[in-house]
Amino acid sequence: MLNINPRIMIITVASFKGGVGKSTTAFHLATYFQELAPTLLVDGDANRSALDWGARGDIPFKVVDEKQAVKHARKYEHIIIDTPARPDEDELKTIAEGCDLLVLPTSPDALALGATLKMVDALHDLDTSYRILLTIVPPKPNKAGIEARTAIQNVELPIFRGSIRRLAVFQKAALEGVPVNTVKDSYSAIAWQCYVDVAKEIQDDQGE
Ligand code: ADP
Repeated sequence: MLNINPRIMIITVASFKGGVGKSTTAFHLATYFQELAPTLLVDGDANRSALDWGARGDIPFKVVDEKQAVKHARKYEHIIIDTPARPDEDELKTIAEGCDLLVLPTSPDALALGATLKMVDALHDLDTSYRILLTIVPPKPNKAGIEARTAIQNVELPIFRGSIRRLAVFQKAALEGVPVNTVKDSYSAIAWQCYVDVAKEIQDDQGE
């Protein structure tokens, strides 16, 4: 029998469109949870974003691909899974069934939002809890973030109170291969706080 730690929390990050900040979200949630307890990031994205990221820079947690995940899982208290982009409905169900919380990042543009709302239907008959995360939200006076939030709330779908702002420092961090909180940039603290707020919502939710 596998000796999996019973206190393990598994968070899976999935999206139905590329470029919505899925890997960025998995990477920064792993950074946050590593500060609390040993955390493993499983990179299931064929683009291997997280593994590449780790190879470029200095990251504070362990990253493995999904083939190595089982071997490593028992040593960690938090497991964050970055999933393949654009799963079909069956893949999504399989992905969702294996976790405690499914995080669905979406940018506020109509294409990404439309894809998210459509695919979320597939989750209705599953027990897994999921929550939509608004990412790459443009600054005021642009209203895209507010409008997307209203659209999601109008159809009564679960959404994180916090959202992730569109900030160039996230791209800088990806290029350097480090989490945003270690980049020398006047926006790095603001960018990091976006993910801290979201991670705290997850902690409250999961009774951590
Ligand atoms: P996905 O995994 O959904 O394809 P990524 O996390 O790889 O998306 O992000 C796609 C691109 O957008 C990357 O260049 C990344 O640095 C950038 N990005 C992600 N989140 C943000 C953000 N909040 N603000 C600005 N750029 C972002």
